Amino acid sequence: MNLVSGATVVAGVVGAPVAHSLSPLIHNAWLDAAGLDAVYVAFAPPPHRFTAFAEGLRGGAVRGLNVTVPFKEAALAIADEASPFARRAGAANLLLFSADGRIAADNTDGAGLAAALAEQAPLFEPGAGPVLILGAGGAARGAAAALLEAGAPEIRLLNRTRARAQALAAALGAPVRVAAAERAIAGARLVVNATSLGLDGGAGPELDLEDAAPGAVVMDMIYRPLETPLLRAARRRGLAVVDGLAMLIGQAAPSFEALFGAPPPPLDVRRLCVRALEAGP
Ligand code: NDP
Repeated sequence: MNLVSGATVVAGVVGAPVAHSLSPLIHNAWLDAAGLDAVYVAFAPPPHRFTAFAEGLRGGAVRGLNVTVPFKEAALAIADEASPFARRAGAANLLLFSADGRIAADNTDGAGLAAALAEQAPLFEPGAGPVLILGAGGAARGAAAALLEAGAPEIRLLNRTRARAQALAAALGAPVRVAAAERAIAGARLVVNATSLGLDGGAGPELDLEDAAPGAVVMDMIYRPLETPLLRAARRRGLAVVDGLAMLIGQAAPSFEALFGAPPPPLDVRRLCVRALEAGP
């Protein structure tokens, strides 16, 4: 374990709540294995103070921050520059503070989604057919933007609040559209749960997986529990499943490189995360 010195680089994650975030575990394990003089901590400013908190970091005393719920949109808003993907996703999960006072925003959630699919469903081809995304919040928007970029020919949105899905479809444009509930899953090659249904032992989304395309892939962004009701149902049907932890680690890797200037060292952080999840909150 590295000792903190006068030269230790500081980075972290900001969210509310953030105490259960696995990001400090992931990044500090990588830092330790890489022997870097840096530390990654969690910040939980009062929600109405987020902008003042982040503005106060201009100048780079803190190297950068991952950003999680509910600050991703506000993070994009305060940045001086943003990557095209962050702009398209309408949210930033990474802020970098430079010495000249500027703030750069990026969004690595799309890369995380792509990495999770590549790792756990390597045969999946985004261009092969329709995708169904459940939800229309920040995570759904990022997923739709990433799958659009990857070449998905049709992206269907299904959300409890239809108006929110309509706004998202309008923002991203064709081929993203709002699906009619009864036909949403018909022939889908990929189903992504980007709602909070199934979180912490709650019931998962109601969906008849029988109507998905043969050999469809089912992904759940939730990773508490690691095997959600949706993933359990998909596994029972023999479908390929992709879990939210793979996405979390997938977004952490490019974040680490942006924050600390080197790719993460080879280390099985998934095993550490699974152990932490099994130990409970
Ligand atoms: P938001 O609060 O922006 O959106 C929540 C979504 O869930 C909305 O579509 C909302 O519908 C829907 N929802 C909430 N409760 C219900 C309910 N009872 N019935 C039906 N729909 C419901 O959250 P995010 O988009 O930021 O995150 C969504 C999920 O994705 C979270 O569980 C989050 O932890 C996870 N996530 C995982 C990541 C990873 O790396 N694995 C990264 C980012 C997010 P409505 O619009 O009607 O309110």
